[in-house]
Amino acid sequence: MLKIEWDENLCCHAGICVTSLPEVFRVEAGRLQIDPEAAEDQEILAVVARCPSGALQAREISE
Ligand code: SF4
Repeated sequence: MLKIEWDENLCCHAGICVTSLPEVFRVEAGRLQIDPEAAEDQEILAVVARCPSGALQAREISE
């Protein structure tokens, strides 16, 4: 299982994450909420890799 961390200080709000995979990445009250169980790991990792600011970090965690 993936754990996705978001650094709001690095995020440049380009929106690639929320437009690419809205079932996983959504904004609520100005903060990015992430549901790593809403898509396949490979799909999520592809979006993390496209984040232009480095605000998203993914790591494997044991369930
Ligand atoms: S893709 Fe990265 S920089 Fe863009 S909104 Fe998402 S976290 Fe922020």
